[in-house]
Amino acid sequence: MPIYEYRVTEKAAGCNYCRHGFDALQKFSDGPLTTCPECGAPVRRVITRFSACVSEPAEESLALEEKLTSYENEGMWSHAAELADKSGLQERAMDDYKKAGYNF
Ligand SMILES: [Zn+2]
Repeated sequence: MPIYEYRVTEKAAGCNYCRHGFDALQKFSDGPLTTCPECGAPVRRVITRFSACVSEPAEESLALEEKLTSYENEGMWSHAAELADKSGLQERAMDDYKKAGYNF
């Protein structure tokens, strides 16, 4: 089922519920909401996404990527290689091990 995010169109008109945006789980057959269920202020749909697509590991891998890149930028190849190795990035690890001077 898709999750729709709504936000009030005019901040001055909204309540605490809709001013920061709220999620609404709706059926496809339902029309889009036009007003806040709490205060009746006009709202618009800002994002459409599917609940199945919401994944937190994306943030984790982003942090990992940042760390790897910073090691690589500083030429800390063995550090980068170990981290990549531990994180299951075998190709990246091999690459960094080679740059660190290891021979396979
Ligand atoms: Zn409201």
